[in-house]
Amino acid sequence: MADNLFVRDGVDLRKLARAIRSVPWLVMFGMMSLCFPAVIGPIAIKINPLIDLCVFAIMRMIVIVWIMRLMFLLRTNLLIILLAPAVLWIPFVDFLVLFVETMRGLRLLESHGVGIRQFGLADNAVVDVLMHPTCQNCGYDLTGNTIGVCPECGTNCTWRRTE
Ligand SMILES: [Zn+2]
Repeated sequence: MADNLFVRDGVDLRKLARAIRSVPWLVMFGMMSLCFPAVIGPIAIKINPLIDLCVFAIMRMIVIVWIMRLMFLLRTNLLIILLAPAVLWIPFVDFLVLFVETMRGLRLLESHGVGIRQFGLADNAVVDVLMHPTCQNCGYDLTGNTIGVCPECGTNCTWRRTE
């Protein structure tokens, strides 16, 4: 399947849904990265203070890169993405940005008929909705429709999920 089949408004919704599905794991990882100096730090520092610093820096970097990728998927302004690391390293600012971007992503998915239910299920569900959109007004199958107007009733379509 071609990747561009899932692009809406310039955003690859399949990749976006995947990224958003892993947000809870990233939050857990982010928490771990913040707890690391307090929990494992005292042990690591006895072995070699550099280990402590390096592991912390790498964990923070993974979180930052992951959030930048989400911003990139959402087509956030490139300048903002490039400047983001300047604030993302600050504890909890990363969570705040992640929350805002996740909400943006969820809204975008919802506007294309991919409700929280589908995206929570699996990739297939997301693909299914995107491949078989129907008209919000008359239920006409809009599969393959690229102009965003229903040929049956002329409604300007925001896609609706097909249950
Ligand atoms: Zn219609």
